[in-house]
Amino acid sequence: MTDETAAPAEKHAFQADVARLLHLMVHSIYSERDIFLRELISNAADACEKLRYEANTDAALAEDGAAFSIQVALDPEAATLSVIDNGVGMNHEELNSALGTIANSGTRAFLEKMKAAENSPGAAELIGQFGIGFYSAFMVADRVVVDTRRAGEYQAWRWTSDGKGDYEISPLALEDAPARGSRVVLHLNTEAKEEFLKPYKIERLISEHSSAVATPIDLIEKPGEEPRRIGEGAALWAKNKAEITPEQYKDFYQNISGQFDDPALTIHWRAEGRAEYTVLAFVPGSRPFDLFDPNRKGKAKLYSRRVLISKDADLLPGYLRFIRLVVDSPDLPLNVSRELVQQNQVYAAIKKGVANRLLQELTKLAENEPEKFAEVWKHFGPVLKEGLYEDPERRDPLLKMARFATTAKPEGGRSLAEYVADLKTNQTAIYYIAGDGAERVAASPQLEGFRARGVEVLLLSDPVDAFWVQNAVGFDGKPFKSITQGAADIKNIDLVDDSQKKDENPAATAKFVAAAKGVLESVVEDVRVSDRLSESPACLIAPEFGLDLRLQQILASAGQAPEKAKPVLEINPTHPLVVALEDKTGDTALFEDAVWLLFDEARLMDGEQPHDSSAFAARLIRVLGKAAGA
Ligand code: ADP
Ligand code: MG
Repeated sequence: MTDETAAPAEKHAFQADVARLLHLMVHSIYSERDIFLRELISNAADACEKLRYEANTDAALAEDGAAFSIQVALDPEAATLSVIDNGVGMNHEELNSALGTIANSGTRAFLEKMKAAENSPGAAELIGQFGIGFYSAFMVADRVVVDTRRAGEYQAWRWTSDGKGDYEISPLALEDAPARGSRVVLHLNTEAKEEFLKPYKIERLISEHSSAVATPIDLIEKPGEEPRRIGEGAALWAKNKAEITPEQYKDFYQNISGQFDDPALTIHWRAEGRAEYTVLAFVPGSRPFDLFDPNRKGKAKLYSRRVLISKDADLLPGYLRFIRLVVDSPDLPLNVSRELVQQNQVYAAIKKGVANRLLQELTKLAENEPEKFAEVWKHFGPVLKEGLYEDPERRDPLLKMARFATTAKPEGGRSLAEYVADLKTNQTAIYYIAGDGAERVAASPQLEGFRARGVEVLLLSDPVDAFWVQNAVGFDGKPFKSITQGAADIKNIDLVDDSQKKDENPAATAKFVAAAKGVLESVVEDVRVSDRLSESPACLIAPEFGLDLRLQQILASAGQAPEKAKPVLEINPTHPLVVALEDKTGDTALFEDAVWLLFDEARLMDGEQPHDSSAFAARLIRVLGKAAGA
């Protein structure tokens, strides 16, 4: 190892639009600048946990034996506030990648959100979401200096920046460096000086927001003063439930999730039996921006006797990835690699137990507090539904808690149990219509006959619906049936209003159908009389076997290109246009135009293009011209 103290300081530019980013941040989150302290303390705590973890396999890393602690040191004269930890520290490379790259998760997305949220109270949530907690320091500081030494390495470094566009890294002489870990020194700006040098204020902030941090926190009121312990470093999950206040739970949740909302559900339990473990889990109160990022994993922290084993343990099934989780088990081995931990039997038992319990609790919430559950479903329903095809073992509880928009309740919130309880006489299936876009789905002509009979239809417009509903076995003995596929078996269900029109001349209808089939032979599988139409003249239906039309669309918009089967054209024999055309089968030119236009109109209603745009245009003009007497 060489002493690089003599080398000159290097200048680096922050990546991406950082200057703009920092400006936006500092100005939009102004009202909540208190949070900088929480962010720095949580980084310090993370650094201690990391070293504790690394020292499991390499005891030399923490050989000085100093107990882990975080110090917050005030210097009123110099107008600095420092957060000091004896954790893992950073080397040159880590400084560059950790403090030189902002919002790794996507600077552009961040900037857009930030602009939209400017001056809104929700803006502060973004700090945590984008993993840019460190930069909140620039809300209160003109200049930030980080002195740090990576555990196990000789060379120490100083990182400095005014947060305006670049930062400097220079080698640091040993005598100026912390023995272990990092010292983050904030040179407070004019406004912050008034506020953040007062010990009582800092003490209050720490006890408010950082009391559950698992490393003890000391306050040094001014240089030369003895450190005073203000946080015990007792891990919240290890405490007795009865001793924990809702506020403490909330702070802990905000600390581990980096979010600023209230958890929608807090679940804390201790499991005994084959494996012993404690779990503290939170269902967030809002939807994280990257919920649908395929790389997003469930964020579970795994501990063994309060020593961190993994920051993002693979403990949750994908469809529960929105849950924030801490698991601590004395039965897990510490000194093994992460891969081995995952093969461990205790680990498997925990994984199973956690998923079961979380589903139980969600079910309980759905039953006992439907309004609260409705919020959870609104945010996470599309993700929970992934479980319907990913986790057959837990399909039943998931189907039970699923909530739907239906023709009876378009705003959503209908359960399948409610649906089944309201089945019409002779109704044998749970009907659904799937498609892209809630509004268009609700406006589909295929729904008319169901509406006329008061038969409820599930309106499925989440992309994930295409995946589960096709293979769903049913609910309560009733199969799921698409209303845009196959025959509609609703003839035997009474119409709500029996003054509905009847087909006056079935023989003429039959002739019309046969002639239309001749015209459209190349593009449809069949033409037939419909039970599901009462207002519109025609609609398209997928054949009985093959892929549902609407599901084809969802799959296509999800980037997959399923093979398209020819549809069936269904016509409404009581529609005045159809009745009039029944007499026109002899006028070949007009009849062909009209039938093609009916077909293209039905395509348009399904959100498709006409089959052949220029032919469509020519026909439209011809028919209109005729009507206008041109
Ligand atoms: P996050 O904590 O969400 O990763 P931050 O912006 O708060 O995002 O911190 C960025 C990174 O900087 C951390 O992930 C960590 O690698 C590093 N870091 C920040 N503070 C410290 C510290 N006190 N000790 C060691 N590493 C730190
Ligand atoms: Mg952080």
